[in-house]
Amino acid sequence: METDVARERLEQLLADVDRSIATLEAESGRPSSSLRPDVETADPGTALSDADREAAAIEALTLQRKHLIDALARVEAGSYGKCVECGTALPDERLEARPEAARCVNCQARAENGR
Ligand SMILES: [Zn+2]
Repeated sequence: METDVARERLEQLLADVDRSIATLEAESGRPSSSLRPDVETADPGTALSDADREAAAIEALTLQRKHLIDALARVEAGSYGKCVECGTALPDERLEARPEAARCVNCQARAENGR
Protein backbone atom coordinates (compact mmCIF):
# COMPACT_ATOMS: atom_id res chain seq x y z
CA MET A 1 0.00 0.00 0.00
CA GLU A 2 1.26 3.49 -0.81
CA THR A 3 2.22 5.33 2.36
CA ASP A 4 0.36 8.46 1.21
CA VAL A 5 -2.81 6.40 0.90
CA ALA A 6 -2.13 4.72 4.22
CA ARG A 7 -1.56 8.05 5.97
CA GLU A 8 -4.79 9.46 4.53
CA ARG A 9 -6.80 6.41 5.63
CA LEU A 10 -5.26 6.42 9.10
CA GLU A 11 -5.94 10.13 9.56
CA GLN A 12 -9.52 9.62 8.40
CA LEU A 13 -10.00 6.74 10.85
CA LEU A 14 -8.39 8.75 13.64
CA ALA A 15 -10.83 11.62 13.01
CA ASP A 16 -13.75 9.15 13.08
CA VAL A 17 -12.55 7.61 16.34
CA ASP A 18 -12.03 11.05 17.89
CA ARG A 19 -15.58 12.00 16.96
CA SER A 20 -17.00 8.75 18.36
CA ILE A 21 -15.11 9.20 21.63
CA ALA A 22 -16.32 12.80 21.93
CA THR A 23 -19.92 11.71 21.30
CA LEU A 24 -19.74 8.91 23.86
CA GLU A 25 -18.10 11.13 26.45
CA ALA A 26 -20.74 13.80 25.92
CA GLU A 27 -23.43 11.17 26.41
CA SER A 28 -21.90 9.58 29.50
CA GLY A 29 -21.19 13.03 30.96
CA ARG A 30 -24.80 14.09 30.55
CA PRO A 31 -26.57 14.20 33.91
CA SER A 32 -28.75 11.11 33.86
CA SER A 33 -31.06 12.55 36.51
CA SER A 34 -32.58 14.98 34.01
CA LEU A 35 -33.40 12.18 31.58
CA ARG A 36 -34.11 9.23 33.82
CA PRO A 37 -35.09 10.65 37.21
CA ASP A 38 -35.78 7.32 38.91
CA VAL A 39 -33.39 5.05 37.12
CA GLU A 40 -30.80 4.85 39.88
CA THR A 41 -33.22 3.83 42.59
CA ALA A 42 -35.70 1.99 40.35
CA ASP A 43 -33.25 -0.13 38.39
CA PRO A 44 -29.60 0.27 39.33
CA GLY A 45 -28.69 -2.76 37.21
CA THR A 46 -29.82 -1.11 33.99
CA ALA A 47 -28.13 2.19 34.80
CA LEU A 48 -24.91 0.38 35.61
CA SER A 49 -24.85 -1.68 32.42
CA ASP A 50 -25.51 1.45 30.34
CA ALA A 51 -22.54 3.16 31.95
CA ASP A 52 -20.48 -0.01 31.59
CA ARG A 53 -21.30 -0.27 27.90
CA GLU A 54 -20.27 3.34 27.32
CA ALA A 55 -17.10 2.91 29.35
CA ALA A 56 -16.23 -0.26 27.42
CA ALA A 57 -16.89 1.45 24.09
CA ILE A 58 -14.74 4.44 25.06
CA GLU A 59 -12.00 2.08 26.21
CA ALA A 60 -12.06 0.15 22.92
CA LEU A 61 -12.01 3.38 20.89
CA THR A 62 -9.19 4.81 22.99
CA LEU A 63 -7.16 1.66 22.32
CA GLN A 64 -7.87 1.85 18.59
CA ARG A 65 -6.91 5.53 18.67
CA LYS A 66 -3.55 4.56 20.18
CA HIS A 67 -3.04 1.92 17.47
CA LEU A 68 -3.86 4.46 14.76
CA ILE A 69 -1.40 6.99 16.21
CA ASP A 70 1.25 4.25 16.42
CA ALA A 71 0.55 3.34 12.79
CA LEU A 72 0.88 7.00 11.72
CA ALA A 73 4.20 7.14 13.57
CA ARG A 74 5.31 4.09 11.57
CA VAL A 75 4.26 5.85 8.36
CA GLU A 76 6.49 8.79 9.33
CA ALA A 77 9.32 6.44 10.29
CA GLY A 78 9.02 4.58 6.98
CA SER A 79 8.28 1.26 8.65
CA TYR A 80 4.55 1.19 7.99
CA GLY A 81 3.24 -2.07 6.54
CA LYS A 82 5.89 -4.22 8.19
CA CYS A 83 5.27 -6.46 11.18
CA VAL A 84 6.73 -4.78 14.28
CA GLU A 85 7.78 -8.19 15.62
CA CYS A 86 9.36 -10.03 12.71
CA GLY A 87 9.62 -7.38 9.96
CA THR A 88 7.56 -9.35 7.45
CA ALA A 89 5.71 -7.13 4.97
CA LEU A 90 2.00 -7.21 5.80
CA PRO A 91 -0.25 -8.27 2.93
CA ASP A 92 -2.34 -5.47 1.40
CA GLU A 93 -5.54 -7.37 2.29
CA ARG A 94 -4.60 -7.16 5.97
CA LEU A 95 -3.86 -3.44 5.73
CA GLU A 96 -7.10 -2.89 3.84
CA ALA A 97 -9.05 -4.60 6.61
CA ARG A 98 -7.05 -3.12 9.47
CA PRO A 99 -4.91 -0.14 8.43
CA GLU A 100 -3.65 0.15 12.01
CA ALA A 101 -2.38 -3.46 12.07
CA ALA A 102 1.09 -3.60 13.61
CA ARG A 103 1.76 -7.33 13.31
CA CYS A 104 1.43 -10.09 10.77
CA VAL A 105 -1.31 -12.62 11.57
CA ASN A 106 1.20 -15.06 13.08
CA CYS A 107 2.74 -12.54 15.48
CA GLN A 108 -0.70 -11.09 16.27
CA ALA A 109 -1.98 -14.55 17.24
CA ARG A 110 1.10 -15.12 19.39
CA ALA A 111 0.71 -11.68 21.06
CA GLU A 112 -2.95 -12.39 21.83
CA ASN A 113 -2.29 -15.90 23.15
CA GLY A 114 0.54 -14.69 25.36
CA ARG A 115 -1.72 -12.17 27.05
ZN1 LIG B 1 5.31 -10.98 12.35
